[in-house]
Amino acid sequence: MIRICAWCKANLDPKQKDQEGPITHGICDSCLEMMLAGPKTMNDFLDSLDLPVLMVGSNAEVVFANRVACEVTGNTSAELKGKLGGDALQCIHARNPQGCGKHVHCKSCAVRNSVNHTYATGEPCVRVPAHMDVINTDVTTEIRFLVSTEKAGETVLLQIEDIAAVE
Ligand SMILES: [Zn+2]
Repeated sequence: MIRICAWCKANLDPKQKDQEGPITHGICDSCLEMMLAGPKTMNDFLDSLDLPVLMVGSNAEVVFANRVACEVTGNTSAELKGKLGGDALQCIHARNPQGCGKHVHCKSCAVRNSVNHTYATGEPCVRVPAHMDVINTDVTTEIRFLVSTEKAGETVLLQIEDIAAVE
């Protein structure tokens, strides 16, 4: 069993580097330290990761979007700040008059459920399969991805990886 950090991808058990077998994910001490080191250090740390990460508050509103999240969504961090997760990620259900989190689909939304779980319990979620219909200039695409969450103070860090369009 190999354990790697879900955030920086470092091997958590360097001695077991050559072992074959399933991979489990956690968080390494240095990532955890960065996440708890205060806003400036944390934002720099998140920008240094090569994965999209949104820092969100209790209602999945964006507090900070890292460099890759801005690239993926085509927005600046300032533009994403304050948007609900579904709006930031261009989820089609966020376009409902009630908004992100209020549609019947939102009850089974893995992104929102992972954020809520981590916010409420402090427990991380690791590589939870999610899918979303995203709408960009009137073109709807179904995408699949994995979400990992980690609580940092009064916010939740939401990481997205393995994004693939559904054929
Ligand atoms: Zn790490």
